[in-house]
This record gives sequence, structure tokens and C-alpha cells, in this order.
Amino acid sequence: VHYQPKMDLADSRISSVEALVRWQHPTMGLLPPSEFIPLAEESGLISAIGELVLERACRQARQWHERGMGDIRVSVNLSAHQFRKGNLADVIDRILALTGLPAELLELELTESLIMEDMDQNIARLERLRARGVGLSLDDFGTGYSSLNYLKRFPVDTLKIDRSFITDLAHNPDDAAITRAIIEMAHSLSMSVVAEGVETEGQLEFLRQQHCDEIQGYYYARPMPWADLVQFLDNRSRAACLQQ
Ligand code: C2E
Ligand code: MG
Ligand code: MG
Repeated sequence: VHYQPKMDLADSRISSVEALVRWQHPTMGLLPPSEFIPLAEESGLISAIGELVLERACRQARQWHERGMGDIRVSVNLSAHQFRKGNLADVIDRILALTGLPAELLELELTESLIMEDMDQNIARLERLRARGVGLSLDDFGTGYSSLNYLKRFPVDTLKIDRSFITDLAHNPDDAAITRAIIEMAHSLSMSVVAEGVETEGQLEFLRQQHCDEIQGYYYARPMPWADLVQFLDNRSRAACLQQ
């Protein structure tokens, strides 16, 4: 599991890190999720993989919490399979109890298409998770087929604007308009906004001007193994101490 930090634009601190699974293949090297998640979805193995990632991420987040690195949350991506299985709340309860991570420090990332079907049942599922204090965010926002009518009923805390809108932000007025509109809509619905795939200073500045809450992308940090993340967090907190 690799981790990619998200930065809070208000205070330039790390607000959370996203757990991103990789497969260390014996002959093919490190494989990205696009190479094996679709197959894992198809075969049903994704539930087992998803639980492993969840447990690992919660355990490691608990460790950096114990090292006094502040209240940095950990976000974990959920697959459709895991979400629909019905026992997700039990799985989350078990893993939080096992790892000792406070529920408030866990955030789950779901995609629009995943929750837009079977709406009423999904809203109840989300409410059950949220009642525990777990944060919920809508990943890749803008690429699925969201019903705005349902969006207002979803108990989600955060919208993550898909990278496809961010990439050409500086040159494409349509992407800029859409990004601005998503930020405004999210804030009006009392949700916070994360921009994914921020790679340039120009994108960052645009997002800052539009009052986007957090950014994530190669400009700030790439996904990295746990040991590198610990180093990264240590360096950041040392730099912050020196500034005070
Ligand atoms: P995602 O959740 O939307 O994650 C963001 C993806 O964008 C990650 O790719 C990340 O490495 C990449 N990324 C971040 N910043 C930048 C940037 O500035 N530029 C570019 N070009 N890319 C950036 P990754 O790690 O390959 O993951 C791809 C997708 O696989 C994830 O998209 C997520 O949907 C899925 N995934 C990853 N880990 C898990 C998991 O544990 N469970 C499940 N179900 N899905 C996972
Ligand atoms: Mg994600
Ligand atoms: Mg995404």
C-alpha cells in the first residue's frame, strides 16, 4: 500500500493521506491498480484485497498518530463489491477495533456510479457508516452520472474533483468553469472539496483563488511507500516547528 498526501490550502498542512494499493509482482515488478483491480472486481477477490488495504492503512495511520504526527486522516478507496456486500459497517467496526484507530481518522472514498444505483438503500448504508464518525468522500466527481437531486441527500463530507478537469485548467475555460462551479456547489451543500491530480503551480493558484479546500497531486507529493511517508511527515513537522 502506497500513500499520497493531500494538502489543506488554508494552512498548507497535510490533512490526510490516501492509501493506494499496488501489487509487487514476482516477475513484472510493481503493478498499478489499473492492472489488477478490474480483474479482482470480476473474480470477487476485491473484497479480500480491500479488507487487507483497509486493515493495513488503519494500522499504519494508528502508528503515525502514536508518533505524535497530529490528526492526519487516512482515506481508503472502496470498490462496488465491498460497498454492496452489506456487511461493510461490520467490517469497518471490526478493523477499527482491531487497529485502535479512532473512527474520525478514517475516510472512505466512493465513486458516484457506485452509490447512484439503488439509491435509498445506499443512503442508509452511508448513514450507518457516518454514524460511526467515519468521513465519506465522492471520488472522481464529475465523471460518473450524478443526479444532483440525490447529491443533496447524500451524507458525504467531501467531493473530489476528477483529475480530467484539473489537467487543462490553465488553458481550457470550460474546465475552469466546471471546476469553479463544482467548488461553489459543494460549499453551498456544506461539503468540502479536494482537487485531484494537481501537477503545476498554475493549477494550484487557480484552485486557491477559487477557495478549493485541499489539493492532491504530483505537484505536492506522489504516492509513496510507508517508510518514505514517515520520512515525509517527519520533515514536514520539523519544518513547521522551525517556522514557529
Ligand atoms: P483514485 O482513487 O482516483 O486515485 C488517484 C489516482 O491518481 C492514483 O492512481 C494516483 O497515483 C494518481 N495521481 C495522483 N496525483 C496525480 C497527478 O498529479 N497526476 C497524475 N497523472 N496522476 C495522479 P493509482 O494509484 O494508479 O490508482 C488508480 C485507481 O485505482 C484509484 O483512483 C482507485 O480508484 C483505484 N484504487 C487504488 N487503490 C485501491 C484500493 O485499495 N481499493 C480499490 N477498490 N481501488 C483502489
Ligand atoms: Mg481515491
Ligand atoms: Mg479519483
